[in-house]
Amino acid sequence: MTHPRNPARFEGMGRIALLSETVASQVAAGEVVERPASVVKELVENSLDAGASRITVAIQRGGVALIRVTDDGSGMDREDALLCLERHATSKLRSGRDLAAIATMGFRGEALPSIASVSRFRLTTREPAALAGTEVIVNGGKIEAVRDAGEAPGTQVEVRSLFYNLPARRKFLRSEPTENGHLEAMMQQLAIGNPRVGFTFVRDERTIFQLPAAARLEDRIRDLGGAAMLDELIEIDGSPDDDGRPAIRGFIGKPGVSRGSRADQRVFINGRAVENTTIHHALREGYHTALMKGRHPVTFLFLELPPAAVDVNVHPAKREVRFHRPSDIHDAVVSAVRRSLESARADWARGFHQPDLAAAPTGAIAAPDTAVLFGATDVAHLPTSVPRVAPGEVPPARPAFPMEAPMTSVAPSEVRPPQPGPFRILGVLHRLYVLMEGEGGLVLVDQHAAHERVLFEELRRRLEAGDVHAQRLLLPLTIEVGPRDAEWLCRNLADLQRLGLGLEAFGPGTFKLESLPPFLPVDRPQQLIREVIEELKAAGTDTPRMRLGEEMIAKTVCRHAVKANDRLRGPEIEKLIADLLACELPYCCPHGRPTMIQISHAELEKKFGRRT
Ligand code: ADP
Ligand code: MG
Repeated sequence: MTHPRNPARFEGMGRIALLSETVASQVAAGEVVERPASVVKELVENSLDAGASRITVAIQRGGVALIRVTDDGSGMDREDALLCLERHATSKLRSGRDLAAIATMGFRGEALPSIASVSRFRLTTREPAALAGTEVIVNGGKIEAVRDAGEAPGTQVEVRSLFYNLPARRKFLRSEPTENGHLEAMMQQLAIGNPRVGFTFVRDERTIFQLPAAARLEDRIRDLGGAAMLDELIEIDGSPDDDGRPAIRGFIGKPGVSRGSRADQRVFINGRAVENTTIHHALREGYHTALMKGRHPVTFLFLELPPAAVDVNVHPAKREVRFHRPSDIHDAVVSAVRRSLESARADWARGFHQPDLAAAPTGAIAAPDTAVLFGATDVAHLPTSVPRVAPGEVPPARPAFPMEAPMTSVAPSEVRPPQPGPFRILGVLHRLYVLMEGEGGLVLVDQHAAHERVLFEELRRRLEAGDVHAQRLLLPLTIEVGPRDAEWLCRNLADLQRLGLGLEAFGPGTFKLESLPPFLPVDRPQQLIREVIEELKAAGTDTPRMRLGEEMIAKTVCRHAVKANDRLRGPEIEKLIADLLACELPYCCPHGRPTMIQISHAELEKKFGRRT
C-alpha cells in the first residue's frame, strides 16, 4: 500500500488520474470506518474469523485515542502480516463464486488497509507454533517498520489517533460519551452474537465487562443483562430445519415487554448482526396485537440459513442483507414468534390451576345474585354521589356483557357457557382490578383491558369463519367519493363485502351502502367509509385483508368493553376471567396494553422483609 500506483503517468495529460493506494484506502475507509465502533466491529470480526476463543477490547477517550483488540486466534506469519495491509488482500475469498457462500464475517479485504490509512496503526501477530512473531507499524497508510516481536500467540491490533490525518472526518465524530455509547452497544452486539467466545471490554482503564465463554445464549444474556433481563424473555419455539426453512432460535420478549426504540431488537443471520426490513416487519406481524403502536419488540433472534440463501454483499459495513426468498423468511419468523407467544401462554395459564373454590373468602363468587360484595370494604368505599348501589341493596340487573343494541349477535356468552374457573378470585379493587390468587402469586386483572381482549378474539373468530352477519341498514345510504377513491373502492369491493361492509357501485363516484359489520358504529357511515379507504391504502398490498378487519375490530371493541367503574357481579367476573384464560393471547389487550400483572410470592416476601 506504500507504492503509489502509476505516479506520474497522467501528469499534464487528461483530467482523470488513478488514485494512489493510500488515498484509495482513505476513500474506502469513508465507507467501512464510520466511527470508532466500526473499527471495533471490523477488528473483532477478524479475530472471530481467526478462530479466537478470547477477545479483549480496550478503548480510550471514546476510541479516538486508542482502540486495542487482542485475540488468541490463528495469528499470521510475516508474509501475511504484510499482505493483510494491502487493499483487497483476504484469506477468505478466492473467486467470485465463493461470494455466494460466505461463511466468514469478513471477505472484502478492505478493513485493515482502510483503518491503517486513517490512524497510527500497530499490528503484532504470531502463529501458535512459530518461534517469533511480527510487528508492523503503519502511520496514515505508510508502513514505517516491520520487525520481530515476541508477543503471545494470536494477534493484537492497536489503532491510535483515529482520523488524525482526516480533520474533516474527525469533526464528524460526536462527543466522547456518544462514541462510548456506540462502542458499548457494538461490544454487546458482538458478545451476544458469539456466546462461545469470551469477551473483555475495558474503557479508559476500567473493566466494563468480562464475559466467560458461555455454552448457551441464555448464559450470555444473563451475564450481560442480568437475571432481570432474562425474566422478560421467552425462548423461541424454533421449527425443525426441515423443508428448507431457516432454523430460528433465540429469545423474544414476553407479551407486554416492549421498547420505545429498536435498540433491543437484535437480529443475527448466520451470526451476523443485521438490520432488515423483512424481519422487522415479520416480528411486528408475529406480535401483532401483543404490541402497542409505536413500540418495538425485544428480540435475540438467530436465523441460520444456507449461505447461498442470503446475500451479505450489499452494504459496506455488511449491516444489511438481501434474501433470495424474502417471503419464506418472513413467514418463518412470523410463525416462530406466534408459536412462542402461544406456548408461553400455555405455561402461564397452568399457573392458575388451583381449584380451591371452597376456600373462597366471604362474599366472593359464592353468592351469584347479590351485589358485588367482595368484602365490606368495596361497598363502604362507594362514593355517595354515585348512589348506584346503597349498602345492603341489590343492584339493578345488567346483562353479563353489555353491548349496544346491534351487537347482540356477537355476545360471547352465546358461544361458550361460563365455566367455573380453576382460579380463585379474591375481590375487585377500585372497581377496575380483579384480584386473583394463582400458583405464582397475586394476579391483578384490568377488567376493561381483559374484556377488550375477549371481545376482540370473539369478533375475529367470527370474521375468520365468515360469520360476520352484516347488519342491513333500514335505509341504504349513498356515499360519494372522489374519482381516485372510487376506482380504488371498486377494485376492493369483494374484500370489503367479506368484512361485512355491504357496498355497491351506484353510478360514477357514488356507492350504495346497504349493510355494515355489526361491530361498527352506524352514526357516521360517510366518515367511516373514508377512514376505511385511508386505512386500507395505508396498509398497502402486503398486509392481509384480515388484518384490516382486525384493526377495525380493535378500534371498536374499546367502545363496547366494560369500563373501569362498571360494577361486575360475581358470575360476570368469573366468566370474564374464564373467557380471558381461553384467549389465544390473554395477557394484553388488542392495543398491546397488559390485561394483567402478577406479583410473585417472592416479591411479596421481599416487600414484607421475609426474605432479602
Ligand atoms: P477481510 O476480513 O475482509 O478478509 P481484512 O482487511 O479485515 O479483510 O483482513 C485481511 C486479512 O487479514 C484477513 O483475510 C485475514 O487473513 C487477516 N487477518 C486480519 N485480522 C486477523 C486476526 N486478528 N487474526 C488472524 N488473521 C487476521
Ligand atoms: Mg475483516
